[in-house]
Amino acid sequence: MKPRGRFAPSPTGPLHAGSLVAALASWLDARARGGEWGVRIEDVDTPRCVPGADRLILQQLAACGLTSDLPVVWQSQRGPLYQAALDRLLEQGLAYPCACSRSDIEAALAAAGQPRERHQAAVYPGTCRSGLQGRPARAWRLRLPDAAPVHWTDARLGPQQQDVSTEVGDFVLRRADGLWAYQLAVVVDDAEQAITHVVRGQDLADNTPRQILLQQALKLPPVNYHHVPLVLGANGEKLSKQNGAAPLDLSNPLAALNAAAAVLDLPPATGGVAEALAVWTRAWRECWREA
Ligand code: GLU
Repeated sequence: MKPRGRFAPSPTGPLHAGSLVAALASWLDARARGGEWGVRIEDVDTPRCVPGADRLILQQLAACGLTSDLPVVWQSQRGPLYQAALDRLLEQGLAYPCACSRSDIEAALAAAGQPRERHQAAVYPGTCRSGLQGRPARAWRLRLPDAAPVHWTDARLGPQQQDVSTEVGDFVLRRADGLWAYQLAVVVDDAEQAITHVVRGQDLADNTPRQILLQQALKLPPVNYHHVPLVLGANGEKLSKQNGAAPLDLSNPLAALNAAAAVLDLPPATGGVAEALAVWTRAWRECWREA
């Protein structure tokens, strides 16, 4: 199978210094493997999307010499694929409807003597596993086994593990507002687009075990993962629009690319964008030869 990578931005605003790192790394990885690279616009969470941001992102990528080898796809147009995947899981009893609101979940956890700590995501207590008890379905969840330890190896972070059952619980595939959950959309799309290598920001590393379990439940091929360092904002958190990330300055794409390359531990490059990308592709191949 030909190696294939992708960059999957959420169009919540223009690219910034942090998102360019993931874009560049995924492009370099695909090129270093002699493979193809695609752009997928992850606009399933429509309330968070900014009109026009998708076009702007594609223009910014093009200015940096990063153009999709595959037709660009928009997740908002792929609902039938996600529905078909959910239907398959439902038929096999691997997914179930859930009637619980957030406060229902908190109340069930408190009643079970496991109140949620502040800043900690609630582990779904499984209330609707055995049926809705006459309540209307709001969301759909994946049914996990009692223990779901996932072991995986990240090209940069090394061996990783998470027990999804105890650390996350049965997670949402379709949300109460009718929108498709990121986990389902990303897994279905990576398989449908024959992606072999996922290179993305390190903030997504702890989503990977959920995605591996979903791949297995849907009998989809496994994917290789490589999570790259994040660019942090002034508050020490991942750079984002919310903590003041400025849109990329397109007047000097090479300067923006050099800043992204430095985060990836690649040497500074001079000359033109195409030349710099060629130098970094060789450096990437050298650095991640074993991965
Ligand atoms: N759409 C996600 C984001 O912008 C990236 C998803 C992924 O690469 O799997 O953070």
